[in-house]
Parts: sequence; C-alpha cells; structure tokens
Amino acid sequence: MIPYGRQEISQADIDAVTAVLRSDWLTQGPAVPSFEAAVANQVGARHAVAVNSATSALHVACLALGLGPGDRLWTVPNTFVASANCGLYCGATVDFVDIELVSGNIDVALLAEKLASAAQMNCLPKILVPVHFAGHPVEQQAIRELTERYGVFIVEDASHAVGARHNGEPIGNCRWSDITVFSFHPVKIITSGEGGMALTNDPELAWRMQLLRSHGITRDPERMAEANPPAWYYEQQELGFNYRMTDIHAALGQSQMARLDGWIARRNEIARYYDELLSGLGIGLPVTRFGNLPAWHLYVVRVEPGQRRRIFESMRAAGVAVNVHYMPVHLQPYYRKLGFCAGALPVAEAHGREALTLPMFPGLSDTDVERVAEKLKHALGN
Ligand SMILES: *Cc1c(COP(=O)(O)O)cnc(C)c1O
Repeated sequence: MIPYGRQEISQADIDAVTAVLRSDWLTQGPAVPSFEAAVANQVGARHAVAVNSATSALHVACLALGLGPGDRLWTVPNTFVASANCGLYCGATVDFVDIELVSGNIDVALLAEKLASAAQMNCLPKILVPVHFAGHPVEQQAIRELTERYGVFIVEDASHAVGARHNGEPIGNCRWSDITVFSFHPVKIITSGEGGMALTNDPELAWRMQLLRSHGITRDPERMAEANPPAWYYEQQELGFNYRMTDIHAALGQSQMARLDGWIARRNEIARYYDELLSGLGIGLPVTRFGNLPAWHLYVVRVEPGQRRRIFESMRAAGVAVNVHYMPVHLQPYYRKLGFCAGALPVAEAHGREALTLPMFPGLSDTDVERVAEKLKHALGN
C-alpha cells in the first residue's frame, strides 16, 4: 500500500533522540529552547513557544489573545476540527467563513462581507483563524488589511504550511498575523512525534503562551507579585495546562529541520509531476497562486461527487491509500448539535464532496507517482 503521507526518519534523527535519552534531561532541558530558536530563526519570527501539539498551540494562542466566554472565533470549515475547537475550549462561540473551491482557502471577498455585516450587528469576532490548506498560503496581506480595520486578531493555522513561502517570505514570520501555529504530527511536513509551536513577534504574547503551557506558573522573579522571593519560590498566575514538549520530541524536530528545504523542493517536484500526469483527465487539479511556494502537505484533486466513493474504494483496493480532506467541520455531529446545518457553507460542502487526497510525501518515488496516476486514470475510466 502506498500511504497518503509518511514521515522520514534518518540515522541523524535517531542519534539526536538517543543523545537526549543518554543525557540528564528528558524534559525541560536544553533541547526545547534549541528547537524553538531553530524554528524561529528559520521562519524569521522573534519568539517561538513549543508545545505538545498544534491543538495545544491553538488553545494557548487563543487564551493569550484573551478569547473567552462571550467572544467569537471565526475559521474555515475546510480544515481539521482543531482549528475550530480551540475557540470552544475558551468558552467562545465559533463561526465559519466559506472557502474558494479552487484553493480550498478562505474566500477573502466573503470574509469582507461577513465582517461588514458583523460590524453593523455588533458581533465581530475577536480572532480569525485562517488555514493554509494543503500548504497553500492564504492571501495574508489582504486578510490582515481587512481584519485590522475591525480590530480582529489573526492566528494562522499553518499546520500544513511549515516551509511554505508567500512572496518570498516564510509562513510563520507573523508579518500579517499575531500568532502562527505549526504542527509536527508525523503526517505533517516535519515531525517531532507529536508536537506543535506558536510563533509570534510580540514578547508579551510569547510570555503568556509560555506561562499557559506549564500550569500558569512562573519562576521569573521579575514577573512575580512577591518582592525578594526565596530560591524555591514560584507563582501560579493563571490557570494553565501541562502542554509542554519533551526534550526527546524537540531533538527529533530539530534534527528534521535540517532536511526541511530539501523536502519542500521534493514535494513541489512531486506536485509538478502529478500536474503533468493528471492534466486532461477532466478532474480539478490544485492551483498554485502566483507568489506562493506551497509546502504541499497534501495534493488534493476534485472528482465528480457521485463518483468519489467508487474511485476512493477502487484506488484503496489497488494499493493506493487515498484520503479525504476535509469533511467540513460544521457538518460534524458535534457542530450540528451547536446549530450548524448543511447548506450553510455551500462551497466548503461542495469541496468536501469532491476532494480526493493523493499520496504526497518526500519519500514517494517517481515510479510511485506514476503508479498513483495510473490507478486514478483506471478508476476514472470505469
Ligand atoms: C494536524 C492539524 C492540526 C492539529 O495538529 P496536532 O499537532 O495533531 O494537534 C490543526 N490544524 C490543522 C489544519 C491540522 O491539519
């Protein structure tokens, strides 16, 4: 079976993890700050806060920006549930902005309309979470210019987009956002086993996220209420969590960083080969917007909705583990119970019926790509 995604572990990765296992620190040692510095440096952000998943990063990002009961968070339906759940964790209300069919990303014109009417009804969101679907950068500058007028914060969910670039600038530099979140789950671009990171240029946001990832506790005398504290003293200042990344995970993540650029190049090569092999089949192929270097976390084609299940099952039976990204979040049973219904976000729903994710990972050989294309052609021809 050719999987749809797969991590690559080298001897250097194994050595890096082993070195931590042999060291004095399995967690809260030097590997986490070292990984944070490596990622911040790679993407050009001032601060990086490593946590145990992107889900945790989204949660602390929302809390650091002050999201709470009575507030609203908007995201897109064409994403993993975590992009929306973070709002619910904070007691806020979640709503969705529809997407463009071709990119799968937030529709900026619809966002403009929705913001204008929300402003009139006095129900603007506190946070917007745009998602760089499949690793294709959203229109960051346009989104920032729009939301800035209304005082809406931006948390980029860049779980798919580690290593992507927009007009030459790395996703994660937070030029057009308040916080950017990365995922290091094994199916993503680089992995730490489980793990995530929140990037920001704002020292106060970084400080709050650091506090929240470890019980809300600080040991920094300069930040304490107590004057002249003894050496054993620490203060819990907020209700935080144990969202810490371990040194074992951080060592793996940092070791993987060394291959990031090569992997992005290979993913782009694979995408171009798919484009070539699949053109003229009458299916929707992913489009790269001018100025974007996608990270190509996923290569998603669109097929006839009535044929999708048959094509999916035919390819799985032929040893190609295709997948679907995404069933729209608002149609999940949990979100339906909150009052969302079918028809509310027609473009994301259409995308959800048509999308078929082909295998995409740097270890995929040209022969594998040819085999996937062959099986897809065969399935379409039935
Ligand atoms: C994978 C993913 C997440 C969650 O990442 P974890 O590290 O597994 O918590 C969040 N958002 C999107 C868009 C994702 O693809």
